[in-house]
Amino acid sequence: MSESRENTIKLADYASVVFFVGAGMSAESGVPTYRGAGGIWGQYRYQDVACQRAFDVQPEKVLDFHELRREAVLACVPHAGHYALAKLQSAHPQLNVITQNIDGMLQRAGVHVSAELHGSLWRMRCARHGVSEDSDKGSFRTRRCPDCDAWLRPDITWFEDAVDETVFTQAGELIASAELFVSVGTSAAVYPAASFIPLARRAGARMIEINPERTEASALFERCYALLASEALTTLFA
Ligand SMILES: [Zn+2]
Repeated sequence: MSESRENTIKLADYASVVFFVGAGMSAESGVPTYRGAGGIWGQYRYQDVACQRAFDVQPEKVLDFHELRREAVLACVPHAGHYALAKLQSAHPQLNVITQNIDGMLQRAGVHVSAELHGSLWRMRCARHGVSEDSDKGSFRTRRCPDCDAWLRPDITWFEDAVDETVFTQAGELIASAELFVSVGTSAAVYPAASFIPLARRAGARMIEINPERTEASALFERCYALLASEALTTLFA
């Protein structure tokens, strides 16, 4: 890796930059992951707790599950990589951040996120009255819509949900115009988010991957740094 350390990547050289941030970024703070070994989907069936069908049948059980997720997130704090990214972004306003993470860890460190592809644990949604921000406590401020008393669901993309077209279109436009694309802590193995890495490559962006292990997408990158996000974000960029 010594060669790579000598070559700081100067963000000012690029008119548009996208950092595409995945679960590995949060995992380094201790946020439980959903997929993979030891992940949440090894302990729960999504059919019981994370799809509209389950919510329609047992809303309270589904909301209890998501309150546990929020409590687990609040037990963690952002790491040096989160803060380094916030600092880079304040120096380089053309740096856009797109994430699949729903935990809000980036925002807690002061990062402005352009697109949350899968929504946020910190917003609730009424089918009739739209989306509302929720508190930063583990428990939901209210589980019922104040306007119509319907159950509120977390504003996240569950299994079997359609993706949020508006957010995906916005993310796609940012990526298609990126001159530098940096993937951090994601294998992007799950579609449709997985399509963003080939999109950036087709658009001609310089492609950088940061992940401790090689991923299915590694072949699409010019440089793959086998580093933790905290290590890479505090050393590779200026
Ligand atoms: Zn309502």
